[in-house]
Amino acid sequence: MKKTSISALFFAAVLCLSLCSACQRTAPPPDASVPPPDISVPDSAISVPDPFSTPQPAPPAGSQPVSEPTPGPDPIPEPEPDAPRNTKLYILMYHHFVPEGVECNTWMLTDTRFREDLQWLADHGYTTVLPSQLIAGTPLPERAVMLTLDDGYASNYQLAYPLLQEFQAKAVISLITHYTQDGHPSFLTWDMCSEMAQSGLVELGSHTHACHDNEEHGIKRWKGETQTAYEARVLPDLQTSIDLISEHVGVSPQFFAYPNGKVESWAKDFIQEHFAVTVTTRHGAADLANGLYSLPRCNVSMGVPLDKILPS
Ligand SMILES: [Zn+2]
Repeated sequence: MKKTSISALFFAAVLCLSLCSACQRTAPPPDASVPPPDISVPDSAISVPDPFSTPQPAPPAGSQPVSEPTPGPDPIPEPEPDAPRNTKLYILMYHHFVPEGVECNTWMLTDTRFREDLQWLADHGYTTVLPSQLIAGTPLPERAVMLTLDDGYASNYQLAYPLLQEFQAKAVISLITHYTQDGHPSFLTWDMCSEMAQSGLVELGSHTHACHDNEEHGIKRWKGETQTAYEARVLPDLQTSIDLISEHVGVSPQFFAYPNGKVESWAKDFIQEHFAVTVTTRHGAADLANGLYSLPRCNVSMGVPLDKILPS
């Protein structure tokens, strides 16, 4: 009886061990709760070809999508280099105007010819400028021209001014003020000067009060003249022209045209103190990079068409 019990116990133990072994073979692995390893490709490996990937067939020709540019912030544009400023100014010199048919000398022009000049300037892209624009530092247009009318003839108002209005062209008229002040019939009146100045098309400059007529000497010193005597003779004359224009037109002149183009070192300080722009009769184009004093000019006469003076 005891021998049978032991056998039964042994048999039961063997059975139990077999069952446990079977249980272990079907149980989940101990790490079943851990998520599977990340199979996504890290960014750093995007460009690395996967030797095990199956190559995709190339799309048929013509169906390839146009590659879009990679979106991103707009590139910072290169700063545009400043366009070079124009400093070239053509200054034309006129004096007296006469009706068509009147014979002209070098210092005269018919109204017909003046109209042709204004039309030619407009057709060739020229813009007229005034001394006040130069003084203000207003950038010059690409083709800049300044019309200067010397001496202050009444014809400037009677024949030239209507054409300036028609073409909206600007001009500076330099007065020999004693003619206007004395009421000389061939010269502008103060009323004419004021009317033209108020239009904005005309500025008035000085061409001396009376020194202009010193035997073509203008403001040059006389031979043997002392500096003291010179200053007592010329500087008050210049001051008178400034005072008369200021009084009658309401604007102090900033422009001075040297009579006969003759400069004088003894007048230099006074002129630079009282005027901002001066012109001579030296022929040529002005370069304002060199300043606004003693600018050259080009005389306009009947025998020389404008296209022989200015670039077309
Ligand atoms: Zn003159």
